[in-house]
Amino acid sequence: MNKNALCFSCLYIEERPELGVNDELIYCIKKDKILRPKSECEFYVKSTDETRNALHSQIYGVLFEDEFEDE
Ligand code: SF4
Repeated sequence: MNKNALCFSCLYIEERPELGVNDELIYCIKKDKILRPKSECEFYVKSTDETRNALHSQIYGVLFEDEFEDE
């Protein structure tokens, strides 16, 4: 496994075991598929607290807003 691959520092990596990933494969949220870690990728975004929070707001923020609207 290439631990220097971009995916391991990317915002879009998801390593949930139930997705069938192992040491050689990762699940990419952006591409919505399991793949081998990449050393080049046009969609790469460095994972930081700020970018993770922005992504979580994008994914979950809408759900929370919908819940509040129903109450
Ligand atoms: S967007 Fe590219 S670099 Fe990021 S996890 Fe997916 S394949 Fe890897």
